[in-house]
Amino acid sequence: MKSLFENIKILTPNGVIEGFLGVDGGKIAYIGEVAPAGYESARKIDGRRRALIPGLINTHTHVPMTLLRGYADDYDLDTWLTRHIFPAEAKLDGKCVRAGTVLGIAEMLAGGTTSFSDSYYFCDEIASVAEISGIKASISRTVINFDNEVKFGECDGTREVLDLFNNWHGRDNGRIRIDAIIHAEYTTSESLWRSLGSFAKENGLIMQIHVSESEREHKGCIEKYGKTPIALFEHYGVLDAKTIAAHCVWIDDEDMAIMRKKGVTLAHNPVSNLKLASGIAPIPKAIEQGINVSLGTDGVASNNSHDMFEEMKLAAILHKGRNYNPCAVNAETAFNLATVNGAIAQGRENECGKIAVGMDADLVMLDLDRPHFMPCHNLLSNIVYSARGSDVCMTMVRGKVLYENGEFKTLDVERALFDVENYAISRMF
Ligand SMILES: [Zn+2]
Repeated sequence: MKSLFENIKILTPNGVIEGFLGVDGGKIAYIGEVAPAGYESARKIDGRRRALIPGLINTHTHVPMTLLRGYADDYDLDTWLTRHIFPAEAKLDGKCVRAGTVLGIAEMLAGGTTSFSDSYYFCDEIASVAEISGIKASISRTVINFDNEVKFGECDGTREVLDLFNNWHGRDNGRIRIDAIIHAEYTTSESLWRSLGSFAKENGLIMQIHVSESEREHKGCIEKYGKTPIALFEHYGVLDAKTIAAHCVWIDDEDMAIMRKKGVTLAHNPVSNLKLASGIAPIPKAIEQGINVSLGTDGVASNNSHDMFEEMKLAAILHKGRNYNPCAVNAETAFNLATVNGAIAQGRENECGKIAVGMDADLVMLDLDRPHFMPCHNLLSNIVYSARGSDVCMTMVRGKVLYENGEFKTLDVERALFDVENYAISRMF
């Protein structure tokens, strides 16, 4: 099925082109100022007063935590996690996770996210909903285990990691990928670091980790092991796999040197870090040091939305204020964190993250016909500083429209809303 966007502003890595974008076989097949030949029978999409941007890439979330939206606000990370989130999560089942995942993916699609990296429980349900929805997903099964004698593949959690990998990795021509995850230094132990690290490396999986999110975690790790979390994970081989390290609020210069050396991506989660009062990650310095920095929302329980536009704007303005430098993170850099750098983090840089011929047609159309987009001196500036998720009027992954003008083409959102209201809430709270 071919599609042709007509008379539209297209945000490419080389600037804005006004004209036509053709989609053929799930890929971007044409970009140009004049109408291409061969699209006579294609679906024509009127692009007047609209813009096309690459799909946004959320490199750190826990999508079923949508169920915990607004449940435990205004706590620090430690209190929030141990007294509120962990006890509620202990009551989850597959049906809850499925309903929460439908809502979370629907929210992401409606806000222009076309690919996300996740870690959670009941991952068969997450993978199944992701497969049906049409979104790109990199899914990992969280294992929290303090038993230092644990053998990989023998405890419940690690058995599920193996099953998930065997059943889902590479599904639909790589649209669904399975990652590994070390939840955090303080929720796991050496045997898991070694075994999951080598499992990820041997199978070419991306490793996700939470790193130095709070001061307590960072300093506690130094007290316990004489090393920062990053240095510890390097020591045990965790970073030998291609790694996404979420948060990194408290990392130091030596951590950054390790991250650069090992090619670790820093997934910046500014809304979550501010909401949980964890602090502000040293993003300008990390970028200066040559570290790939991407963006994430984190779970909705600490955000409380999946709006990557909000994340992008905050990433752009937060570091200006902290560093008294208006150029600390400029609009273009903030946009790259949410797009091309996210694709690099997920190992998808050859398929998405930018609008170019040959890339997957993971595209987001924005409605510019709104007061807050006028005037438009600079499209990129308006996208980073003025846009919001609700400006998205169409989201497409691999050329397939998944969301358009309030309508979800692949997900039964009504059913999920019913299950959340009538099942998940009473079970969990
Ligand atoms: Zn997280």
